[in-house]
Parts: sequence; C-alpha cells; structure tokens
Amino acid sequence: MATGNINVQTENIFPIIKKFLYSDHEIFLRELVSNAVDATQKRKTLAKIGEVEAVEGNIAIEIIRDEEAKTLTIRDRGIGMTEEEVNKYINQIAFSGATEFLDKYQGEEAKTAIIGHFGLGFYSAFMVAKHVDIVSWSQREGATPVKWSCDGSPEYTIDATEKAERGTDIVLHIADDSEEFLEDARVQGILTKYCKFMPVEIIHGTTSDWVEDPSGEKDEEGNVKKVENKVARVVNATTPLWSKAPAELEGEDYNKFYKDLYPMNFEDPLFHIHLNVDFPFNLTGILYFPQLKKEMELRKDKIHLYSNQVFITDNVENIVPDFLTLLHGVIDSPDIPLNVSRSYLQEDANVKKISGHISKKVSDKLASMFKKDPESFAAQWDDLRIFIEYGMLTDEKFAERAKKFMLFKDTTDACSTYEELIAAVGETQKDKNGKIILPYTADAKNQHGFIAPALERGYKVLVMEGPLASHMVQKMEEAYPDVQFKRVDSDVIENLIETDEATTSALDEKQEEMVKPIIEGAFPGDSYKVKFVAMAPSASPITITRSEFMRRMKEQQAVGGGGFQMFGALPDSYDVAVNSNHPLVQKILGETDDDNKKALAKKAGDLARLSQGLLEGEELTSFIQKGYSELA
Ligand code: ADP
Repeated sequence: MATGNINVQTENIFPIIKKFLYSDHEIFLRELVSNAVDATQKRKTLAKIGEVEAVEGNIAIEIIRDEEAKTLTIRDRGIGMTEEEVNKYINQIAFSGATEFLDKYQGEEAKTAIIGHFGLGFYSAFMVAKHVDIVSWSQREGATPVKWSCDGSPEYTIDATEKAERGTDIVLHIADDSEEFLEDARVQGILTKYCKFMPVEIIHGTTSDWVEDPSGEKDEEGNVKKVENKVARVVNATTPLWSKAPAELEGEDYNKFYKDLYPMNFEDPLFHIHLNVDFPFNLTGILYFPQLKKEMELRKDKIHLYSNQVFITDNVENIVPDFLTLLHGVIDSPDIPLNVSRSYLQEDANVKKISGHISKKVSDKLASMFKKDPESFAAQWDDLRIFIEYGMLTDEKFAERAKKFMLFKDTTDACSTYEELIAAVGETQKDKNGKIILPYTADAKNQHGFIAPALERGYKVLVMEGPLASHMVQKMEEAYPDVQFKRVDSDVIENLIETDEATTSALDEKQEEMVKPIIEGAFPGDSYKVKFVAMAPSASPITITRSEFMRRMKEQQAVGGGGFQMFGALPDSYDVAVNSNHPLVQKILGETDDDNKKALAKKAGDLARLSQGLLEGEELTSFIQKGYSELA
C-alpha cells in the first residue's frame, strides 16, 4: 500500500469545499454522475478506434444506496483509471486548480466561483462524505484494479484491490450531517433534477411493474393474475428531443416533451422553435411559446439550461435577454461558461452572442409565421402581444425586426400592421397639422362612452391594453414620428382629431360667460376646468376628459420617471367639455330661478362624474338617494 499527500499547499481546502463552493450540496451527485458519463463515453470512443475492447453488454451507470453501511456508490462501466491515472487526475491535477483558486479568491468571493471550473468536480464529494473510495479498473489492456481512499485530509492511500468488472466505483461514506443523501426519495429527486437527460443510461434501484402471472393462474373473474415484477428504475432519457433532428419530429413529439418538462402545466404551447447552431458556438434547444394571455407573471415554468445534457440551472436571468425568459423550454450549450458567477456571465462574449442569436431566431420564427399565415398569427395576437411588446421595449434589434409583424388591434378585433393601418386611416385621421392621430383605448368596456362617438365618425380605435401599453405608445411614437397616439378619453371627439371644419356654436361669448360659473359651481375644488365645445346637439351635454399630456406625466411620475418629482405629486386635473349646442345649456340659460339653474347644472355635473367613476363617498350616496326620492 502506498500513501501520499494530495498536491495541495494549504491544509484548508476541505473546509472550503464543504462550506463555500456550492451552497447547494446536492450538486456533488451531478458532478460525480457526469464524470461517470464522461468516462463511459470515453470508453465508447476508444473502443471505436480499437484502443480498448469493443463495448458489449451493460454500460449503464448505477447509483447504489446502502443505508446500513451508510454508503452511496456511483458505479460506471467507463474507461476506468490505472494507478498512474489516479495519481495524475485525482491527486495532482485536481488540486493544482484548487491552489490557483485559493490564491485568486479569498473568503466571500469563493462562493461565486464554482468547483468544476477549477477541476474540483470530483472533490465536491467531500461536501457530503467523510471518506471517499475510488475503486477503479481501467479498460486498458493489462490494467489491474486499484483503490484510492481519502478521509478528507490531504493524505490518501492507494493500493491494489479486487473488482468484479472494469470501470469505476466512487464510494461515498456519507457524513453524519448529510444522511439525507442516503434516502431513496432525496437521491431520486436529485437525479431527476440534474440527470434526467444525460446521454448514458442511469439506474437507481428498482421499480415495480405489474405483469401477468407467467403460470397463467386466474383470479375469480377469470383474468390472468398480475404479479409484481421488479425492473431497473431508469432515471433518464438518453436522447432528449432537442438532440434529435427536427426533420424526424412531429408536432406531437414537441407537445409531449413540453409536458415532460412541465408536468404541472396543462396547456399546450402555442408553437416552438428548435434551435440548432454549431457555428460560431454550439447551441441546441427547443423554445416554446406558452399561452401568455395578458399576464406577465406566467413565468413560473422557466427555461432549463443544460450543458451537454447535464442540467445546470433553471435561472437563465442574464444569460438570455429578459423578454425571452417569458418563453419555456431547454437550451443546451457547452459554450456557456457555467462555472463562473452571474455578473461575469453577463459580460461574457459568448453569452452575448448566444443571446443575440436566440433573439434573432425568435424574431425570424415570428416573421415567418406571420408571412405564412397572417390570419392565424392575428388570431394568436393576444397571446403573442405581451412577449413581442416586451421584446420591442427591451431589445433594440428585436424592435427593428418586429416592425414587420407587430400588429395593431382595434375595437372591432381587426388586426393590421403599421403600413396597413396607415393606409386605412392616413387620410381620415389626419388632423389640421398633418399628424395622423391614432385614438386608443386602455379599457374598451369603461371607455365605451368615448369609443362609440369615435367609431361613429369612422375612426379606428386601437386597443392598447396590458401592463406595457403606455410604454408601447411612447415607443411607437418614437418609431413612427408621423403619428400621435391619443387615448380616446383624453378629449371630446371634436377635439381629439382637430380638423378645419368647425361646428357652429349656438352660444355667443356673452352667453358662455353666463353659463360658465354655474357649471363651475357644480364641480368641487379647482381640479375641473370648464370649456365650451360646439358639438352635435345629440352628443353629451357635459363630458369629463383628462388630457393626454397630463395623464402621461402622472403615469411617468407613478413609475418614478420623467423628472417631475421636484414638484411634488401632480394634482389631478380634468377638463369639463360643455356642449354648447345641447338643449340643456339653453334650458339653464332660460331658467330664471338661480337655485333651479344651480340644481340643473349640479345634476348634469354629477352624472358626468358618475360616468367616469369620479363621484365617490358621501356625494355618491346623496346623489343616489336624491334619484330614488324623485321616483317616489
Ligand atoms: P473534471 O471532470 O472537471 O475534469 P474532476 O475533478 O471531476 O474534474 O475529475 C478529474 C479527472 O478525474 C477527470 O477529468 C477524469 O480524468 C478523472 N475521473 C473522474 N471520475 C472518473 C471516472 N468515474 N472514471 C474515470 N475517470 C474519472
């Protein structure tokens, strides 16, 4: 037997591994199983070129728990290691990385670096084991089995041993504080999380399968009895869907895979994108468009990130652009440096290229879907909209490409591209200054009173709903300087799109001056500004509006932008448009009794406020009571 010291200058490496390197101790199993996968694949490669014997029989990796002996064994039938190789790969190389690591990062910083990066994958075993044995028999001709043993101090022993099969057993003698890793459910849970798609079959224990009794014995109803049949419990699918060629796959396969990824999500995805890039970086994956509807919060099913079929994380923040995190699916790339901190990831050139590429693929897919079948694209618009808007607001390149398929939906549910929209409304909705005015609603139900007169005039009213609507309005105005968006309740229709044609007013200036204070008296405080507008006699006598400008300022202030903070909160302010051609105005003028005049104006004012949800509290109660008493 030989003993030696692991090549490490500091005595402190193990406490560091244990405490700092991974906050998630469970990751040791991913590291060890992926080493086993690598070793198995190396054996296959070498067998192909005749360096080791051809591969026959079982090459599965086995995870063996022994709760009594308190060991967890990762067994592979891979390439194995000779004594020399153990020395080279385990004793020397592993820790040369570690010393470099320790020199570079002290203390807290260590947490953000990751073991694998410094060749510490194997040593992560010491996060959960007090003692580790490697029992290995190399596939190389003439090799003999060897056992390496280490209790977590830099001292190890290495010795000849017996072994039934070629390959490697990593035997973990689980530490007292880590006994959870001896439990069936815990281990199975970790395996399904990290190893579900690894490319070599992984077996963890057995599972029961009920089969017909081979003796043919029947039950009372005459059916052949079922007997329990124990079969190996296979953890993984070795060729996940994303690693296959898209041409071999059907839509069904994609939907089924979606269900495998997100068993709790019952809705089918809208469509998918199969990513397959090998230059200038490697990237495969499948991205799904979920049915987003209007909710942005539907992000709970996250994109899973893999590196060569090894699960890394489902937190892809900073790896893909934020709007893409609304998508679901899998990205697999060995070129994303997984072993570094997130802040470093953001700056990584490969990561930037990958992000840019995914964003382009997504916009290409949307563009081709739109081109192929504009009608079905429009039918899915409600689900696509949030995603496209979010992308346009946060990714300039995407915004540019999205102009081709960004749709404007109006209150009649018709969708059009910007060009189509302008072709349709460019003349009718041009104001006297030559701007094309696009009235929009954020709430078609509640703004019905404003939408109806706009439609009557032959205008289109766009529907701009959802959390991003006000940002989109601004974005669109920047992108298309010829147009101006005006919310449909920001002015009476006569003023929303100002034309040269004016309706004549039944009131002269003097009469306006007489009516104005009476109407003003019907509104509380000084947040209502009364003005006269000559409208059709059939239009409302009083309409309360809120100017587009003031509303946008308030909205910006609410989200903390716009630089208006120094003025304090902006007061609410409303415009009261009095229809000078409405018979009510004549009635007020004609009324001789002052109290009656005031009562008429008050009632009209209350009704106008009621229609806007501005009549509240005591005022509302007394208005309603008055209404009832008039009935009695
Ligand atoms: P990495 O996997 O990043 O190289 P590890 O510390 O996990 O770092 O492993 C160091 C080396 O030990 C591996 O590169 C490999 O040569 C060898 N090794 C580890 N596990 C096995 C195994 N199960 N079979 C054969 N060789 C192994």
